[in-house]
Amino acid sequence: MNDGKIIDNHNRLLSYLRVSITDRCNLKCIYCNPDNLNPKLPHDHILRYEEILRIIKVGVNLGISKVRVTGGEPLVRKGVYDFLEKLIKIKGIQDVSLTTNGALLKDNIEKLKSAGIKRINVSLDTLKRKKYKEITGRDSFLQTWEGIELAQEAGLYPIKLNVVALNGINDDELKDIARLSFSHPFHIRFIEYMPIGSRFIKNESPLLAPEILKRIESLGKLNPIANETNDGPAKRFKFEGALGEIGIISSISHHFCETCNRLRLTASGQLRSCLLADYHQDLITPLRKGCSDNELANIFLKAASHKPFKHKVAVNQSIAVKGNMSSIGG
Ligand code: SAM
Repeated sequence: MNDGKIIDNHNRLLSYLRVSITDRCNLKCIYCNPDNLNPKLPHDHILRYEEILRIIKVGVNLGISKVRVTGGEPLVRKGVYDFLEKLIKIKGIQDVSLTTNGALLKDNIEKLKSAGIKRINVSLDTLKRKKYKEITGRDSFLQTWEGIELAQEAGLYPIKLNVVALNGINDDELKDIARLSFSHPFHIRFIEYMPIGSRFIKNESPLLAPEILKRIESLGKLNPIANETNDGPAKRFKFEGALGEIGIISSISHHFCETCNRLRLTASGQLRSCLLADYHQDLITPLRKGCSDNELANIFLKAASHKPFKHKVAVNQSIAVKGNMSSIGG
């Protein structure tokens, strides 16, 4: 630790905490949790909101300034809006955002806004109702799309649409999805599929960043945009004349480990230093045994000291990461 900051062994300043508040999800996306088989954690194995808030406060004292709430599906957890409100009020946090599949968005936008949420990421891999059901296992494209439009009308900005690019599944739609950036101020983020979990999709020719860009380039002149300090790993672009942006997240073909500033708190109270490595530090046990904030802070530092310099995932290779994104918190 250096001046109340978390600096790992590779001199990266860790200031971003992604917090999964539940392992439950109302969808079973083929690339994430296809059978919804994750053994659901018993309720008492999941961090309570007060526990999550205490852990975050310890992180904030160590320089965490950005928090993303994710899951599972965060909007399925009871009490989430109260939790968000308390989280946003923590002194020292500059940015709180939420990743959701949007299926429950439409009736809850005002609650999100009252809690203080200003921007959201919504996962949307297709613009076709039938395909949405094939990908997610649920016929909720229309309500999700309505939720996204209502969120835009309600002033949430930016709305980032997360699109996992999947060959043979939605590759025929990348251009149509990118075209949305002309009519809507959305930030459309194409994400390379990460072969994570035991049920990863084998694909001889995965859709990687250069190919994704190639598929959409005929839409117009695509100008690169410089990244801002608090930006994520997306390489940003904008079509000339477009309202919104395009982002490409090339976790596999061109990983961004050297600038990774993240730690992850799982719903079960484990602190992970890398999405694509199993190493974690247990926080829930010491927390429930009554440990001090100082002891929790030391666990943060220990997790940081084990942050690998690079993840070891290569194209189309199954990786030795237990569980899938829905349990780790993507
Ligand atoms: N339920 C929320 C949602 O759907 O946005 C939050 C959790 S979800 C695990 C978070 C993000 O992880 C989503 O944008 C999803 O597309 C992404 N994701 C899940 N599995 C992935 C994979 N194998 N490769 C790339 N992205 C993945």
